[in-house]
Amino acid sequence: MPNPHRYRPEELEALRARYRLERDRRIRPDGAGQYRRAAGEYGYYAKDPYTPFTERQPKTDRVEVAVIGGGFGGLLTGARLRQAGLDGIRMIDEAGDFGGTWYWNRYPGIHCDIDATVYMPLLEEVGYVPQWRYAPGEEIRQHCVAIANRFSLYDDTMFHTRVTDLTWDETAGEWLVSTDRGDRFRARYVVASSGTLTSPKLPGIPGIEQFRGHTFHTSRWDYGYTGGDQNGDLHRLAGKRVGVVGTGATGIQVIPHLAASAEQLYVFQRTPSSVDVRGNRRTDPAWAATLQPGWQQERMDNFLTIVTGGHADADLIDDGWTSTARLQRQMLTGTVDQSLSAGDREYLDEIADFRKMDEIRARVDEVVTDPAVAALLKPWYRYMCKRPGFSDLYLQTFNRPNVTLVDTADFGGITRMTATGVVVGDIEYEVDCVVFATGFEVGVSGVVSGTLPVHGRGGLPLLHHWARGPRTLHGFYSHGFPNLFHLGSLQNAASVNFVHVLQEQAGHIAAVVAEAGKRGARWIEPTAEAEQAWAAVIRETAPDNYRFQAACTPGYYNNEGRPREVNNSFGPGPVVFHDLLRRWRDEGGMDEVLR
Ligand code: NDP
Repeated sequence: MPNPHRYRPEELEALRARYRLERDRRIRPDGAGQYRRAAGEYGYYAKDPYTPFTERQPKTDRVEVAVIGGGFGGLLTGARLRQAGLDGIRMIDEAGDFGGTWYWNRYPGIHCDIDATVYMPLLEEVGYVPQWRYAPGEEIRQHCVAIANRFSLYDDTMFHTRVTDLTWDETAGEWLVSTDRGDRFRARYVVASSGTLTSPKLPGIPGIEQFRGHTFHTSRWDYGYTGGDQNGDLHRLAGKRVGVVGTGATGIQVIPHLAASAEQLYVFQRTPSSVDVRGNRRTDPAWAATLQPGWQQERMDNFLTIVTGGHADADLIDDGWTSTARLQRQMLTGTVDQSLSAGDREYLDEIADFRKMDEIRARVDEVVTDPAVAALLKPWYRYMCKRPGFSDLYLQTFNRPNVTLVDTADFGGITRMTATGVVVGDIEYEVDCVVFATGFEVGVSGVVSGTLPVHGRGGLPLLHHWARGPRTLHGFYSHGFPNLFHLGSLQNAASVNFVHVLQEQAGHIAAVVAEAGKRGARWIEPTAEAEQAWAAVIRETAPDNYRFQAACTPGYYNNEGRPREVNNSFGPGPVVFHDLLRRWRDEGGMDEVLR
């Protein structure tokens, strides 16, 4: 195979060896077991700092649709159901308001790293044009509130409420919904959209409970302690020594603001992020004035096509995601270039990956003045092993005299904490405050994880039905569990712009529910044969990225270095999947599931 970027064979081998070495020194025998849940004795880290808890009477009434989750999945489903003419929609969330991840994450510097015109859904329906190319978190949260208002989703909400059980009542043909607030109400339909990265996690650092200073997790930011707001100006940190643990997508947004206000900042890093150019800018009002109806869908479709490897005549977004589509294919589903053999494709992808990562590493040298610090900030892994980062502030922060980068890779992370500080190896760093930017547990909420038990026909638990792997039609519904819908990435296709995928899922569910209403169908439920047929499609098409993931530096993408062997995604990707759903609806697919 020609080598278009002229790496000599020994250079390629040296890069591969370096990547292996860097992965190996980070692999921990305890894998995902190294983390602690923010519950029980660590429950403080998960408390809602934003909305006061209010008592209310439990409900025992009946609704048409219960939507579990007030993030984008739930909001989009609520909106599409309303557009389909549905009444009696009850939205339920553990948070104190709508927004999902944008409700919880309000840390200084928070932005979405996907172009706002394709990420923020229903812009035309709500009549809004984002103010920035990459929107600040508060703008996105306010947009969630605007969607809820626009589609009257506040009419019947249960916030600060966790659904604890769903049981199908065969006689009434309804779900009995129980919650941790004592509710036991009935719903004809239930939509489960409880998200993926929902529960903050903490590193299981010995002595963490002995620390006498202040601590919190980035997804529960304590502005009472730091002062300031999401734009920064954390003035109460003046004179304080602060430690921050974690340099993932969150860490790189937070760290410049901590550095600007703290007297001294220690950044405890285990694996450096790749940090590419951001180039955020305000939306040009003259451009916004030219937008014609349908503009957002056109941009969303264009972005999705390009990032999943498809062809588009023009790249309307043209950013760090659209230019790295080929590299994303290693982790996500999408179109594959069939003109190349698998071996050639793999080789060319690897070369393209080395080139991109060389560029990212060169940027570190350009920006960071101390070569020893620059060396520590360079990522040595394939581009999609970790969530790629973008910032024009982060690397620059390490040129400040009040910032110290403490690399913990040789110790598997922080060694321990004491009453007064953080220990790495045998060096103690005394701090007044520790901020954990240590991420989230993956897929622990909702029906898929079993934290929300579901009993279908004959009392069958959903996870028994799924004992040998998930069984659904198109990822949405299962035989024996009528009128229950799942949103998420199970047995369907994902993309970096997951909100687009959720929007298609919401539209599909609303179309099926509306058709059930039109036909007077009592149940929406696939046959066991339809489930089997879909499982076969998934088996045949699911991308085999086990080898890629196993070679990656550990993180939540690869289950801390132990990737799961079974991939439950639809290989051809979301563009093909969405088309498949449209054809299924148009060509009589509903007959399969409506009874
Ligand atoms: P991550 O899981 O990506 O990062 C956690 C960080 O904590 C890592 O740097 C990790 O190091 C570090 N860490 C964990 N344990 C220890 C330890 N014992 N000692 C030292 N360091 C430790 O969480 P994030 O909150 O950064 O991001 C989670 C996800 O949220 C992202 O992947 C993305 O999907 C989403 N997000 C999206 C944004 C957007 O703009 N769209 C912005 C922010 C987040 P190591 O890597 O070595 O494990």
